[in-house]
Amino acid sequence: MEKSNFPVCTKIAIIGGGASGVALLKKLIDSLIDNMDSKIEISIFEKNDSLGPGLAYQDDVLTSLINRDAKLMSIDSDNPRDFIEWVSNILHLNEEIKTTFLPRALFGMYLQESLRGIVQIAKRKGIKLHISKNEIIEITKIKQQYMLKTRDREFMIFDQVAICIGNTLSQDPFQLRGQNHYIQNPYPLREKLENIPTNS
Ligand SMILES: Cc1cc2nc3c(=O)[nH]c(=O)nc-3n(C[C@H](O)[C@H](O)[C@H](O)COP(=O)(O)OP(=O)(O)OC[C@H]3O[C@@H](n4cnc5c(N)ncnc54)[C@H](O)[C@@H]3O)c2cc1C
Repeated sequence: MEKSNFPVCTKIAIIGGGASGVALLKKLIDSLIDNMDSKIEISIFEKNDSLGPGLAYQDDVLTSLINRDAKLMSIDSDNPRDFIEWVSNILHLNEEIKTTFLPRALFGMYLQESLRGIVQIAKRKGIKLHISKNEIIEITKIKQQYMLKTRDREFMIFDQVAICIGNTLSQDPFQLRGQNHYIQNPYPLREKLENIPTNS
């Protein structure tokens, strides 16, 4: 049998647990065969409490809709209908959903639920998966590896790192941040809209 080129244990870090981080994790876990000779250890780091929804699909008003057809929104690259099938399933629908633009928060729930399934598959396959509520604040390349530093000043070494940190905060060219009535980030809309008088 041919020897693998991987080191004895390959450590992979995914920074960011939004849609991209979860989709990548799924693809990785799905593609790994059970109880591999060369062990794989995957760590996913998310700075916020909630893993899955990220900024775009966080819990929010149901009128905030996905801007793409739900039939094309999926984290399963082999099944573009994965999300719509999940929705039909939880709503116990026998027929096809007519509305194609669904609430963004619903997609966030789908991501969270998918993550639970991914964790189970990892367990079954004997893949070590660490889910860490931590912010990565520094990456340093050391020879062929990467050293990550967390906000809690922990240091960890990885062989591969995927950066899935999403959108950065929008620019503030007029230095309005912190000023009264200036909204730097409108999300979640539920909270931000509450502070705007209805007749304004
Ligand atoms: C408000 C909004 C609405 C959108 N609506 C749509 C839509 O309807 N349809 C569509 O296709 N796309 C939409 N998008 C685009 C959307 O960004 C992508 O579809 C997708 O959510 C991006 O996923 P992501 O994982 O790259 O980023 P995010 O979902 O933003 O996830 C990044 C995650 O990384 C975490 N993170 C960041 N930095 C660190 C760090 N240093 N350490 C640890 N964790 C970190 C963040 O907390 C976050 O959870 C929208 C984007 C926004 C902002």
